[in-house]
Amino acid sequence: MIDGLKEKVQTYREDLFQLIQKLIQIRSYSGEEREIVEFIQSKMRDYGFDEAFSDKLGNAVGRIGDGAIKILFDAHIDTVQVTEGENWTYPPFEGKIVDGKIYGRGAVDEKPAMAGYLIAGRAIKEIYGDRPLPFTLYVVGSVLEEDCDGYPLLHLIEKEGIRPDYVVLGEPTDLKIYRGQRGRMEAEIITRGKSAHGAHNRQGVNAIYKMAKIISEIEQLDERLEPAEPLGKGSVTVSDIVSKGPSLCSVPDFCRIHIDRRLTISEDRESVIRQLKEIASKLNINAEVEIPRYRGKSWKGTEFEQEAYFPTWVLEKNHPLIRAAQKTAERIFDGGTEIGVWSFSTNGVATAGRLNIPTIGFAPGKEELSHSDREELVLHDLLKATEFYALFPFELIEILNSK
Ligand SMILES: [Zn+2]
Repeated sequence: MIDGLKEKVQTYREDLFQLIQKLIQIRSYSGEEREIVEFIQSKMRDYGFDEAFSDKLGNAVGRIGDGAIKILFDAHIDTVQVTEGENWTYPPFEGKIVDGKIYGRGAVDEKPAMAGYLIAGRAIKEIYGDRPLPFTLYVVGSVLEEDCDGYPLLHLIEKEGIRPDYVVLGEPTDLKIYRGQRGRMEAEIITRGKSAHGAHNRQGVNAIYKMAKIISEIEQLDERLEPAEPLGKGSVTVSDIVSKGPSLCSVPDFCRIHIDRRLTISEDRESVIRQLKEIASKLNINAEVEIPRYRGKSWKGTEFEQEAYFPTWVLEKNHPLIRAAQKTAERIFDGGTEIGVWSFSTNGVATAGRLNIPTIGFAPGKEELSHSDREELVLHDLLKATEFYALFPFELIEILNSK
């Protein structure tokens, strides 16, 4: 059934490399993705996708086929910014190609996946034309991921009604199959005291002193957190502190800290809140624990808001999605590939973490180069990933049918 597909992808090699170059050249910081979304839609139309549009948030969405099984290929197309202190070998928006590698912002995180999806879709349409396909493939260029991971797909699924059965993420995996990530959340703790003149400080209650005890307990908590395979250990970091009082010569009556919490298996919103409240009650301190809300606006002007909680997720090792990915990898590399997990967070926090939709990741590029001035990609790896994207939907259907 999939004869000739891999070879078809290979004939588009030069187009693929030009495409990733063009995607890097279009600057697309979070919230400023209009130009790249329009470019992606035009490519989807050129390549014969059955549908190409942007949703109300501003995600670029393409569809191929209308079979019963719905597969979603996601690549976030926003990038983090280039800052003054960065020291690039080549200008970050040139997409310079040297010795088989391409350099620039987004060369790893994660424009290659979008280039690969577009060419894979083109190859599928070229071979199948308008004959029915056994799947519906959605190719999504999601926006705002760097600001609020998961939200763009949560919007697509819950507000636009495109609910996939399976999801593939294009975050860098260095051509391995990834099946999960640590979650993350933010929290705030507030202590309150009683203000008083600094000359009569005994009449007041110092909110900072109360918080200092809590901070010290949090530092110790970080060391006590237990690892859980395959994600390792969570972490807790006090990342900011603010206090208020009538003046700098008074006892402060308000103190707030901000916490970054990374979550491993079995740690979630409720367990973290409980843990923080326990610290305060053990110290006999009245403290408020809250989860802040994230607010933003897309390039289409759509405002959105979400609690700063991004749940952990892991897909079991022998899930059909992973077996299909491994079978696909075997068609491309001798001996298949390794299975792993990400250190950072992805849109999987929504699809797998919140909505329980089986999700994996597969893409070229090294995760540790993300967000750095060393983003570079081996172009041959992109070609291999593109072969994977073209073959994968067919392998998945075969595995599902063989059950
Ligand atoms: Zn990314």
